[in-house]
Amino acid sequence: MTTTGTLYIVSAPSGAGKTSLVKALIDSMAQVRVSVSHTTRAMRPGEIDGVNYHFTPRETFVSMLEQGDFLEHAEVFGNLYGTSHSWVKQTLAKGYDLILEIDWQGAQQVRKLVPDAKSVFILPPTHRDLRQRLHNRGQDAEDVIELRMQQAITEMSHYVEYDYIVINDDFKTALDDLSAIFRSNQLRLDTQQKRHTQLLCDLLR
Ligand code: 5GP
Repeated sequence: MTTTGTLYIVSAPSGAGKTSLVKALIDSMAQVRVSVSHTTRAMRPGEIDGVNYHFTPRETFVSMLEQGDFLEHAEVFGNLYGTSHSWVKQTLAKGYDLILEIDWQGAQQVRKLVPDAKSVFILPPTHRDLRQRLHNRGQDAEDVIELRMQQAITEMSHYVEYDYIVINDDFKTALDDLSAIFRSNQLRLDTQQKRHTQLLCDLLR
């Protein structure tokens, strides 16, 4: 796959604050887009089809999968999730940096296909904070929270596969850390050469 923008993978256990951090990041960086995944899971209160996810019947998802429509896919908590291959290709070709908010299974698939992709893992500061955040969401019963804590530990055990680690203790600090990762990558020689071809040419005349 040839790209112009940079592909980023962002993973975290549920409750670590990934979605809020990514939203704040894209609000502050015009050059960055986030992929809207397809999922077979039911819509939660407040979610909007086409904004949070493309909510897709399982049958349709499976047929898209068979047609090779997904760059990566995974089953998480019994639901299927996948990233549209064509949308990723088009968005990168337009020069945008693109974030995939996906789990460790999807991250492993993307790294194989796009070795230049940069990956970030967001961690909570403590188990206690994670449990508290899962409670505060008010979406799950006590036994579901216990299950999510166990799943969070499995997800977190994959942190070593990532390029960057951000610890979300204080939101602003975590956002600054995440922004620094994107800024420094945007300033890399190869990226700047592509972005400022004419300027670099003019300066050396
Ligand atoms: P939730 O249903 O709570 O929004 O997300 C559950 C998990 O699925 C999270 O870990 C999230 O990162 C992951 N996820 C969301 N979209 C995708 C996707 O397109 N591919 C993969 N592999 N994981 C995804």
